[in-house]
Amino acid sequence: MGWWRQLISGHRPLQDPRPLSEFEVTLMLIADPEQLTVHFVRKLHELAGIEEAVVYLANRKRSAETFSRIDCGGSVEDLPATLSLSGRTMQWFCTNQEFLPLDRDEEVVDYLRGELEPFLRRSVNLACPLVAMDRLVGAVFLRIPQTALDIGDLAKLKALFRQAGVAFENALLLEERLHQNERMLRAEQLATIGQFAAGMAHELRNPLTAIRSTVQFLVCDFANGSEQQRLAEGLLGEVDRLDQIVGSLVALARPVDNSPQHVQVTEEILACVSFVETRGKSQGITFKTDLQDGIRKASCNSAELRQVLLNVIVNAFQAMPEGGTLSIKASESDSDPSRILIEVADEGVGIATDLRHRVFEPFFTTKPGGTGLGLAICGNIIRRYNGEIWIDQAEGGGTAVRIALPASTSISEEGT
Ligand code: ADP
Ligand code: MG
Repeated sequence: MGWWRQLISGHRPLQDPRPLSEFEVTLMLIADPEQLTVHFVRKLHELAGIEEAVVYLANRKRSAETFSRIDCGGSVEDLPATLSLSGRTMQWFCTNQEFLPLDRDEEVVDYLRGELEPFLRRSVNLACPLVAMDRLVGAVFLRIPQTALDIGDLAKLKALFRQAGVAFENALLLEERLHQNERMLRAEQLATIGQFAAGMAHELRNPLTAIRSTVQFLVCDFANGSEQQRLAEGLLGEVDRLDQIVGSLVALARPVDNSPQHVQVTEEILACVSFVETRGKSQGITFKTDLQDGIRKASCNSAELRQVLLNVIVNAFQAMPEGGTLSIKASESDSDPSRILIEVADEGVGIATDLRHRVFEPFFTTKPGGTGLGLAICGNIIRRYNGEIWIDQAEGGGTAVRIALPASTSISEEGT
């Protein structure tokens, strides 16, 4: 007999109403989503004798379209680390906002089987959405012992999930706010550095030009092939490198030009790929593009978007000195079609989690001879167009740089 039938015939009622109200109070006191998850899972074990609970929460702070598994101990490596909002399971939850008994609703389970297989293998028998004000906040997969719940308990479990949904929504909103504050603080720091950089670049450009022309004059004076000529040419190379750094500093501090165009990102991506393809191939790099057809235009500047893409692609090249695959995707966001998403993923060494936001700081570099300005410039440009840029781990273990840009409004698109 399925647990569901038992659930209806029922043996052991969920005895004490007290734990529920206690739970309500504690839920509202915990603001950290991960702590809240741990608490919630513990409560589920206590209240309903649930054997296993695996929780996935929305990745709101990165406006990503995924739900991440929250680690509460236990070995769950065979379960996916993330579930996509556009996947069948989450789409089903968005539409139905209902508990899904996995050993009863065969038709639905068949439809979702591709994604649910790892859960079914672990004998998970109930999948529950976490919903707050019609928004899907997360999903919880439960393994409930055959005799655990009766119908009244199920109603209580639903009530508990409703409260939990609101508590998780609050916690995620707070996290989102903190993340925004952090971004504002960083933007301020960048503005200060930008002003400083502009001043410094201005002071450096003149003496650099003087040095360059003097050395060039000397190069002509020295005998062809002489040691002096070789040294002087080396000097010229170094001066050019300094000049390049100064150029990047100026780019970082460039006065804000906020007149966005309507940019077809897929065209810009293809232009960048054809620009770097030869160099990539010589390094054993294969390009893979997945560009959604008929995608809306983005509101930004095409030259600047190319600059961003090239910076990110060059970083990916440098991360894969032995070659590999570079994948570039572009699509409209499923949940919010007013955002255009771009992803550049490599198979390189990856970036440690605690460094993922630091790489956007000016001068942060781990490369000998690196300037640490590439991603700082990218961040400046993307934020200027009210977009976002962030780093995730790529599926293959490398780095995925993700960019979200606002889509152009359709009325003004026509003029471009
Ligand atoms: P630079 O390339 O001059 O070091 P960036 O601002 O472009 O400066 O990048 C900053 C740092 O971020 C790099 O030094 C590297 O540590 C890290 N990084 C950027 N992109 C990648 C990538 N695709 N893979 C691994 N690390 C990366
Ligand atoms: Mg770089």
